[in-house]
Amino acid sequence: MTRTSGTPQRSCLGCRKTFDQNDLIRYALTPQGMVVPDVRRRLPGRGAYTCWSPLCLAHAVQRRQFDRAFRQPCQAVQDDRLLADILKALRARMLGLIGMGRKSSQLVAGSNAVLDALGRPRQIDLLVLASDISAGIAEKVSRKAARVEVKCLGMFSKIELGPLTGRAETSALAIYQGKLAEAFAADLQNYRKLSGES
Ligand SMILES: [Zn+2]
Repeated sequence: MTRTSGTPQRSCLGCRKTFDQNDLIRYALTPQGMVVPDVRRRLPGRGAYTCWSPLCLAHAVQRRQFDRAFRQPCQAVQDDRLLADILKALRARMLGLIGMGRKSSQLVAGSNAVLDALGRPRQIDLLVLASDISAGIAEKVSRKAARVEVKCLGMFSKIELGPLTGRAETSALAIYQGKLAEAFAADLQNYRKLSGES
């Protein structure tokens, strides 16, 4: 069988199925023998992989597959600790993308700017509404977004989003279509799979 893709294939330690390496979570082993998620794929040494699935991660842990993959006994691995670390890393990366998007004008922040941007909805990929946005603003923004068929995501707090957009707090932002939006959407999809939201 010939492969057209040059991307290495790896199997998930949970379900044992083989996937394109970029579609799996990578794990690395610290010098102390601790399994850590390597969401940025930058840690040195041998890697182990699972699907973006809490079930596959739990299976891998229960069956001690990390010991086998790293060819040594790893420090006690807890799937809930790994899961929490991965979700935290994904959140940090999405927040980083928002900060980059602001600097490179690939998004606008603030409810008034978002309402303005919704006047040109075809340029917008997604709205992010802070989970602690005031009910009145949320309704106003989401009603207009629904009318022009733009998706809204409720995530992060006003204080998490604020400093990334040059403010103390930010309730809403609109991410324009493009590479940054694609990277954000990919992380978001994995976040949802792992947190059981999809
Ligand atoms: Zn799997």
